[in-house]
Amino acid sequence: MYGYSCEYCEGKVRERIIEKEVFRHYKGFVMLENVPVGVCDRCGYRYYNSSILKKVNEIADGKQVPVRTEPIPVAPYIYEMAS
Ligand SMILES: [Zn+2]
Repeated sequence: MYGYSCEYCEGKVRERIIEKEVFRHYKGFVMLENVPVGVCDRCGYRYYNSSILKKVNEIADGKQVPVRTEPIPVAPYIYEMAS
């Protein structure tokens, strides 16, 4: 699925199975499990195969039913000044 050269450096994009990856969609967030993500072995840039993005779109559009829905915890990042 990957194995091509990185667009941003001399590295090579290698497939890595990510246990949980959250994708942002204009309709909300979609989490995929065990996603084969392409990760550059030098700069770490992530590539997503079009079949992954298609699945995210289909779930977000309601064309595919998600296995389950999980609430995502949200917290503001509060900068703590060193005292
Ligand atoms: Zn790279």
